[in-house]
Parts: sequence; structure tokens; C-alpha cells
Amino acid sequence: MLKVLKFGGSSMADASQLAKVKSIVTAEESRRVVVVSAAGKRYSGDHKITDLLYLCHAHLRYGVSCDGVWQMIVERYTSIRDELGLKTDLESEFAALREKMDAGISQDELVSRGEYFAARLMADYLGYTFVDSARWLHFKLDGTVDQESSYEELRRLAEGQQVVIPGFYGTMPDGSIKTFSRGGSDITGALAAAALDADVYENWTDVSGFLMADPRIVKDPEPIERITYSELRELSYIGAQVLHEGTIFPVREKNIPLNIRNTNQPDHPGTMIRERFDEAEMTDDRFITGIAGKKNFSVITITKTGMSGRRGTLRQILEILEKYGVNVEYIPSGIDSVSLVVASEKAAPCLYQVLGELQKTICPDAIHVTEDMAIVAAVGRKMAYKPGSSGKIFATLGENHINIRMITQGPEELNIIVGVDNKDFENAIRVLYNSFIKGKEQTI
Ligand code: ADP
Ligand code: ASP
Ligand code: MG
Repeated sequence: MLKVLKFGGSSMADASQLAKVKSIVTAEESRRVVVVSAAGKRYSGDHKITDLLYLCHAHLRYGVSCDGVWQMIVERYTSIRDELGLKTDLESEFAALREKMDAGISQDELVSRGEYFAARLMADYLGYTFVDSARWLHFKLDGTVDQESSYEELRRLAEGQQVVIPGFYGTMPDGSIKTFSRGGSDITGALAAAALDADVYENWTDVSGFLMADPRIVKDPEPIERITYSELRELSYIGAQVLHEGTIFPVREKNIPLNIRNTNQPDHPGTMIRERFDEAEMTDDRFITGIAGKKNFSVITITKTGMSGRRGTLRQILEILEKYGVNVEYIPSGIDSVSLVVASEKAAPCLYQVLGELQKTICPDAIHVTEDMAIVAAVGRKMAYKPGSSGKIFATLGENHINIRMITQGPEELNIIVGVDNKDFENAIRVLYNSFIKGKEQTI
């Protein structure tokens, strides 16, 4: 039995958190591979080491002294080491890094050091071997991971050993360091689990699993006990940012269960994520597994009589959006109209050009743009089998005076997505949570 564990920033924030990690790791002999993030916040208002490293690099770029920020980074890791009574030689590492910084270091290399130092300390503390991700996690020129060579290399370096691996980074074909996007240590953990054919990938964070709604919006939401990879993807994509979006692919490919756990409550079973669950395992009868959403979408609605009967119109519309690099999230459509839901941030810089081209190419009867829309998704694998689920959702929002601006449902009937005004976003999530999760939708 092999378990790969990934500990996030809050689990690495200070010496007392590292002590919790050690007791979790040593509690089971199978916990032999540990992936760590850089030290995160110790309390609200504190700084994440990764943020400080980005800030350092910004100072360097503008030729401003970064001494103050650098000192905060040095002190954080030095105090962890000293409080744990470790002998890790951080001083010479820091000195060498400062020299590199003065000579001109890439942003990715500098920010990757947050994970590097954290992993060095954790390896010493656990008595495990440190395996640098620069040695095994290889990116291809297009920025994707070269799974084959990475897996092979990690197997060579780690098979049969107890190891600590820094998350978040790897190397490009020219040997330079490249990081994933923010939160990417989750992916490193998933790749390590897949490479080593782990029996489970445990992702340890600061909440007791994937919660049914964002805890910043709903007070004390319940954790989801079991969720499928598909449901998780839907929820993560639409805004439930517990795991990095790229985490699922490597473990799903190898059918490795993913277990989200809480470092501060290690006895809680957390959330188990698998491809599917047997009927016998499905103890609750909720038709919604979770609720998530995002704000700030724009909806471009194009109206033209007989549009759906005309061949190629949708393609032409999408080509224009593609040309300007605007991703279309949803496409609700009618006989004479089609709406394109796009992230306002992406569309704003080129909106007028896009509208101009649509006008010229499609010659519509009208084009209309609605701004400040939020998307809320109710996700659940059982939704497809429960007649009336969508009607109940719409009715509940209506009864609570939330105006629905758009409705769409994925073809797999795994989700129901509604568009509401930005100002109604939090309320819509609370209303759905209170009616269907807390109240367990008794009336359906
Ligand atoms: P880590 O540093 O361990 O990777 P993150 O901060 O990236 O942790 O992710 C965990 C955080 O995600 C939680 O502390 C919580 O605030 C936030 N979060 C947002 N939506 C959800 C959700 N649906 N379930 C659980 N956590 C959520
Ligand atoms: N430390 C990195 C970040 O803050 C990666 C991670 O924590 O997963 O984004
Ligand atoms: Mg994270």
C-alpha cells in the first residue's frame, strides 16, 4: 500500500503545523511520499511565502531593494528550522540564492524556492529523502507536462523510498525552472501519485474536505462525503477553488482515489473522490452534491430571424470570438437568437472590435450585451434521475426574488447553471444551499 500526501500552504505555515504534518505522516507506514507547498498564512492578514517571492521579483525587476521582503522570507523558514531543532543549512542556500537574484533570476525560479525550502525542511524533519522536482518533473516546450519521462524519472528516484518532494515546479527542456499556475502543488502531488501508482492521493488542506458551498459565502457548509471526478471538475471549473483544476487528470487516468483531508482535524475522513460509487455507498439522497459559481460575466446576445436554420452562423460567431482570444463559457440559444457567455475580464479589452465584426459578418437584427452577470451552478450526479430538479431550483430562486437571467444545462445533466445579476450572486448560493442541502429538498 502506498499513499502520496500533499500538504498545502497552511499545513506548512509554521513549526506547529509541521509538527501536525509529521504526526499524520508517521501514523501510517504507507505514507511514504510527501509533497509540500511553500509556507502559507499563519493567520488572516499574514503573507504567503509565494506572494512574498513574487513581490521580491517585482522589486528586482524595477531595480528597487527587496531587502525588507527577503528578510521576511528568511525569517519564516529560519524560525521553523530553529523551533523544530533542525540542522538544515539554510544560510548557504539563502546566500547562493541572493547571488543569483543579483545576477538576474527568472520569476519562476525565484518563486519556486518557496516550495524548495519548505521541502528541504520537511525532509530533514521526517528523516525522508529530499527529491528535487527539478530532477523529475519535465515540461515540454508547449508548457504541458511530459508525463512519460517525468513518471519514469520519479519512479527511478523514489521507488521504494520515503521521500519529500517540493510542489509547484519542474524544468523546461533547456533546464530552466518553470512553475505551474498558482495553487499548482496540487498537480505535483497528483503526478507523483500517478507516477508511483499510489493506492490513494491524500490532499491535506485546512478544511475537512470539499465543502458543499464556498465557506466565505455560506456559514459552516457541510463537507461532501463522496464526489465523482466529473462532479468535482464541474464544481472546480465554475469556481470552487479547493484543488487546482489540473489535479484531476493524472489521478483519474490511473483510477487513483483522491481524498481531501484536514491537517487540523486529521480524524475527519474528509471527501473521497472517485470515478464512481456503488449504490451501497450512496447513503444520502440529496440530488445536489455541491454549489459553486463565479461573478463578472458578460452575455452577448445576437438576434437574427431564422438564425438556427442557417448553416455556419454559429461557426462564424465562434471564429470571431476565437480570433480575439475570448473563450465562450456557455452558449444558450433559441430559434432566432444565440447568447455567448464570456468572462468580462477577457472580453472587455476587445468588446467593441468583436461587436463590430459580428455586426459586419452576421448582419444580425440586433446585438445586445448584458454586463455584471454571475453564474451559479448546482452540480449533482443524481440530477439526471430526479424529475423536477430544475423546476424546483428555479422556483426556489424566484420565491426568494432572485431574477434568473439565463438557464443552461450540460448534456450529461450533471449540472444546472443559472445566470443571475452579480448583486444576487451570494444570495443565490445561500438560498440554494439552505433549500436543497441544509433542508435536504424534502419536497422533491
Ligand atoms: P492549500 O493551501 O491547502 O492548497 P487552498 O487555500 O488552495 O489550500 O484551498 C483550500 C481553501 O479553499 C479553503 O480554505 C476554503 O477557504 C477554499 N474553498 C473555496 N470553496 C471551497 C469549497 N467548496 N470547499 C472547500 N474549500 C473551499
Ligand atoms: N505556493 C504556490 C502558490 O501559492 C503553489 C501552491 O501552494 O500550490 O500558488
Ligand atoms: Mg491550493
